[in-house]
Amino acid sequence: MADCLFCKIRDGQIPAKLVYEDDRAFAFPDIQPQAPTHILICPRPHIATLNDLTDADAALAGHLFVVAAKLAKNAGLTEAGWRAAVNVGKGGGQHVFHIHLHLLGGRSFGWPPG
Ligand code: AMP
Ligand code: ZN
Repeated sequence: MADCLFCKIRDGQIPAKLVYEDDRAFAFPDIQPQAPTHILICPRPHIATLNDLTDADAALAGHLFVVAAKLAKNAGLTEAGWRAAVNVGKGGGQHVFHIHLHLLGGRSFGWPPG
C-alpha cells in the first residue's frame, strides 16, 4: 500500500534495521522503545488491523506469534517472560495501520495495561 509506513520499511524506502525477515513476515526495533527489548513484527502483506483478518490469514497471523517467540528466545527472554501486544484501531491505541505485533521484554509488566 503506497502510503503505509510499514510497507515502506518492508520495501526499504524508509530505513529500519530488520532483525528478522522471511517470506511472510518482517521485524524491526520500535523507534520509541517502551522496554529494553521492543520489536515490531509485521505480516509482509499490507493488512490494516486485526479486524481485517479473514480465515485465509489464520496461518499468517499465527506465524507472527511463532516469530515473536523465536525473537524473544534470541533476546534471552524466554525464562523471564515477555509481552506480545497488538493494538487494534484508534480506540485500541493503534497508530500505524499495518498489523504489527509488539514484542516487549527486559522489564516487568503490569496488568491491566494502561
Ligand atoms: P501502534 O501504536 O500499536 O500502532 O504502534 C506503532 C509503533 O510504531 C509505535 O510504538 C511507534 O513508536 C512505532 N514507529 C513509528 N514509526 C516508526 C519507525 N519509523 N520505525 C520503527 N518504529 C516506528
Ligand atoms: Zn502496509
